[in-house]
Amino acid sequence: MTTPEELLERAADVATRAYVPYSSFRVGAAAVDSDGNVHTGANVENAAYPATICAEANAVTTAAALGVRKIDAIAVVHLDGDLGDLCTPCGNCRQILKEFGVETVIMRNPDGSPHTVTLEQLLPMAFGPEAFDAER
Ligand SMILES: [Zn+2]
Repeated sequence: MTTPEELLERAADVATRAYVPYSSFRVGAAAVDSDGNVHTGANVENAAYPATICAEANAVTTAAALGVRKIDAIAVVHLDGDLGDLCTPCGNCRQILKEFGVETVIMRNPDGSPHTVTLEQLLPMAFGPEAFDAER
């Protein structure tokens, strides 16, 4: 079982490889799937800003491309900017996390300890796959 601290470490490691020539704001994410495998992603910026990919989206879509359909938890870490702030997933990423059943979101406190919340806390009354009763 991957601990929150280990997931934060994996997220911080992949954040060092973020492609951020415009913001210099490096973010990494590490998602653990229902089989216990960890999938990582970093943010990848684009000169056409809306084409930028967030770290969380990168990690989750990389897992999805491997056939993963359920992710239990994801850790998100940023390396730059005001380290007094938690790096919370953006609204678009919260919806992506909802699609793959993420239950737990782990951020890093300024002292390095995990700050754990539920996706329900970040995205209450979310619209999700259950609306379609779709097979995943
Ligand atoms: Zn995002």
